[in-house]
Amino acid sequence: MWLKMLEGTFRRGAKVLSRSLILEEIWEKIKDQIPISKEEFFDRVTRLARRLNWKANIRALAIVVAKELGADVSSILVEPKKGRILEVGPVRITRSRGEETPYCIFVLVNEDERLWCVVFGAENVEKVRQLEEKPVLIENYTLTSVRGRTLLRVTERSKITELDEEELPPILQLKPAWAENLKSMTQARGAFIVSVLILEEEIMEYPSCPYCKRSLDMTDSEWLCSVHGPIDQPEMRKVYHYFVADDSGTYPAVFFGDPPQEGLAGKRVILKGYFKDSELQIMKFYEIEEVEEIEE
Ligand SMILES: [Zn+2]
Repeated sequence: MWLKMLEGTFRRGAKVLSRSLILEEIWEKIKDQIPISKEEFFDRVTRLARRLNWKANIRALAIVVAKELGADVSSILVEPKKGRILEVGPVRITRSRGEETPYCIFVLVNEDERLWCVVFGAENVEKVRQLEEKPVLIENYTLTSVRGRTLLRVTERSKITELDEEELPPILQLKPAWAENLKSMTQARGAFIVSVLILEEEIMEYPSCPYCKRSLDMTDSEWLCSVHGPIDQPEMRKVYHYFVADDSGTYPAVFFGDPPQEGLAGKRVILKGYFKDSELQIMKFYEIEEVEEIEE
């Protein structure tokens, strides 16, 4: 009965299904807190919608009704966000009232948006770190504004669920993950995916600490790690320096780690990175393409 009414009143193509799904989802979260049946709840939302001539979204209407019935609406105030985790920042600690809570910043992207998020609490922080580039659903978050930027606040009460791969397109197909070009990346904060031409490659080796991988300083006659002190046998590590270009300019770039191959000069690559000062820090290579010779 209620479903018929909803379908009758909310008939607007595909929206019918998504609206009744939204109501179902809300009902599941608050049903234990309100004294009426599902049919009655849906009916009240429909009647309210009619009274307001549909000038509010279905979630807002359901929240009004649930609140009237005495439910705690904090878990339904915001629409769950789906996305892939593009980047996870370093873990930091916040202290309040003698308690230490780990937190970190991360960026979520989907087909339509690029969202800055902050996650609190050891369990959720660890989850986000494990799920880089995976599709996730975030529920029960709040929104805050920090220096003019909207930040999605994921607390210990929020829920992060890993979704199946097919729930979202691959990360390379999510437009908000891409930078317009290298120049725009120098002016924006955070990581982006970008397609560039590698002009030059230089491989350098440096002595590093075998325990923490930090680069070592030579003092007097010994190698010194800033954390582990004198090191007898430094580990030699490679660092890759490049010059990369696109139609917006040419920039130095650096990659710590093992690239998919050496000898990238002259190839076009799709990569993820961010700018630190004026140098591109490469985080990951996705695709490498030979550049075909131009026929004269
Ligand atoms: Zn060390």
